Amino acid sequence: MKEELYCSFCDKEAVINLKPFRVNLCSEHFSQHLTNRVKRTLLKYKLVKEREKVLVAISGGKDSATLLHIMHKLSNELNFEVYGLHLNIGVKDFSEKSEDAAVSLFKALGIKYKVVNVREFFGLSIPEISKKVKKPVCSTCGLIKRYIMNYVALYSNFNKIATGHNLDDIFSYIVKSFLVQDKEQLSRISVFTPTFDKLISRIKPLAEISENETLTYATLNKLPVAQVSCPFKNKFGLELKIKYSFIDPDYKYYPIKLNLVRTYSKLSLGSRENDTLRCKYCGIPTSSEVCSFCKLLLNLNLDPVSFHKAFQGYASFET
Ligand code: AMP
Ligand code: ZN
Ligand code: ZN
Repeated sequence: MKEELYCSFCDKEAVINLKPFRVNLCSEHFSQHLTNRVKRTLLKYKLVKEREKVLVAISGGKDSATLLHIMHKLSNELNFEVYGLHLNIGVKDFSEKSEDAAVSLFKALGIKYKVVNVREFFGLSIPEISKKVKKPVCSTCGLIKRYIMNYVALYSNFNKIATGHNLDDIFSYIVKSFLVQDKEQLSRISVFTPTFDKLISRIKPLAEISENETLTYATLNKLPVAQVSCPFKNKFGLELKIKYSFIDPDYKYYPIKLNLVRTYSKLSLGSRENDTLRCKYCGIPTSSEVCSFCKLLLNLNLDPVSFHKAFQGYASFET
């Protein structure tokens, strides 16, 4: 017969055994424990200051749902403001369910939010854009998402953009960049990237939380999460292969992952030393005359100047 475990802090049944912390936790104490760890990450890396405005990017998945739920709780205690942003990338079914989940969460928490619909703006979905410019869907999607998040943050005066990258995401990204010897990528990996000219500071408050924990948190707190994964996601890519090779419900690799992420965050600090130029169309720091996003617009036969003019109105956020 399976032996029942009890919470180390109360007499309820435990739902999780966190070996690295030598505790068994009930649902309530687990949520509190995770919130305290995120709080420590915010304070240790100085990710947010008092009275700052933080734009939390919500994909509709479990990681960013957990992030917003915890950041919302901590915003009172640490005195900062939280807003939500979701980008609908126009992939049938997947994007509809993701937007529904994101909006349900914003409404449930009473958070001011904005949804940017890529199709409404470009007249095309991200897969259609990638086909037209003959670039892989994931890199086109990453480029557009990063740019739009920054755009909204910049033109609505946000201090920080927070994403739901967890410990396993950052760990597998570091290992992949190391294996393919992408020095540029390696030099940019960080829990905290400071604001640099028109590039708004990016923070990853879940950097010390494992994927198993965000999943447990989202499930226990019944957060609205879309039960779909993007059909374009490369399930056989190196990054996911690394991630799934190191998935460990026993937390055997947790200290290794944590040490690697901490060391890299100290080393790189989101270096942008190659971005000595400014894009001639939008002015963001870049390593060439035209930034990758404006190159994409030119490739789509769109005029960057008029695009940006129209986009500024669309992307600004009533806060
Ligand atoms: P991913 O690269 O899909 O694992 O996403 C990493 C993080 O980027 C998520 O945790 C979110 O914070 C953010 N993100 C990804 N997709 C979206 C989206 N469609 N809208 C807003 N934020 C997103
Ligand atoms: Zn308990
Ligand atoms: Zn540009």
